[in-house]
Amino acid sequence: MGQMIPLNAIVNSDHPRWYEFLVRLSERIDEHGDRCGGPVGHGGHARDVLKEMGNIDVDRTLSTFDDQGGHCDCEILMNCVEYGGRVGGQDRDE
Ligand SMILES: [Zn+2]
Repeated sequence: MGQMIPLNAIVNSDHPRWYEFLVRLSERIDEHGDRCGGPVGHGGHARDVLKEMGNIDVDRTLSTFDDQGGHCDCEILMNCVEYGGRVGGQDRDE
């Protein structure tokens, strides 16, 4: 309750909406036949999801994902989640 949402922040595991982003991206991939949308800027859904969420520094967020090995939708969910914990409440196999 009363958690402050930073203005135009980078979404990462420290961001209060990190979990929301992961769920939204997972759902978007599901809607597209459980297939990765592709690289960021080339059909990937991550940018659209971040834009829809609003109040997020989309470009800096995506470059942070890039640094963490998240170059496309599935890589963001695979590689960047290590920084943030679980996706969609599902336990991941180690
Ligand atoms: Zn992918």
